[in-house]
Order: sequence, then structure tokens, then C-alpha cells
Amino acid sequence: MHKHFEAWLKREERISFRLTQVLTGHGCFGEYLNKIGREVATNCHHCGGNLDSAQHTLEECPAWASARRVLVARIGRDLSLPAVVKAMLADTKNWREVVSFCETVMSQKEAAERDRERADPLPSKASRKQTPRRLVC
Ligand SMILES: [Zn+2]
Repeated sequence: MHKHFEAWLKREERISFRLTQVLTGHGCFGEYLNKIGREVATNCHHCGGNLDSAQHTLEECPAWASARRVLVARIGRDLSLPAVVKAMLADTKNWREVVSFCETVMSQKEAAERDRERADPLPSKASRKQTPRRLVC
């Protein structure tokens, strides 16, 4: 990520936790959960795609199509991270719409992740010992 943007992100206290997850990719995404040892695969639990990342959530995942339609109507079709950030900084209405998308989508992803934890609390005892549980979702 852009260095100036990172610095700004740290200063911006009002920024929501869920927005930060989407902008940094460090959050309730298969790619990240796999990287920190919380999930064995990187796939998306909402559409079956191979790689659940922030970008997949923002641009591709069919599960969030209706929330995405609202966002696209506000900020346009380019949902690449630089375009989204640019739109957010250009207009507070855009900012609020991006925040709203992140809240809607991430709250559902978090709920699904908690359900999976409950259904299968110990997927691998060995790896769990080596990687203590971290709260990401
Ligand atoms: Zn998906």
C-alpha cells in the first residue's frame, strides 16, 4: 500500500475496524486467515472461489452483488483499491458509501466465520498449539 496512505490510515481514528480490514486485507478473508494459520485453505466460503481476499470481496464475490451495486452507483465501476481510496478522499458521500459496504459485507463474513468456529472448533490440534488464536474477525 502507498506509504502516505498508510500513515494517514494510522492517524484517522474515526476509520472503522471493518473498513480497515477491507483496505489492508488483514481481516476476515480466506487469504489472510490461511496466512495466519486459522484456515487450511484460502477459498471463499460465500461463493466457492479459490481465493477470498479483500479484492475478491470488493470486486468479484457474487455473494455481495447487491451491496456492490449500491456502491458502484455512488463511486463508479472501478473498485480497485487505488480507485476506491481516491473516490473516498474526493467526497464524503463516497466515503460513507464505502464504509457502509464494508460494514454490511464484513459483518456477514464475521458472522459466517464465527459459525464455522462453533461448528468445528478444533480443526487441527497440532497447528493450533503453534499458532495461538488471534482475533481477526
Ligand atoms: Zn466469494
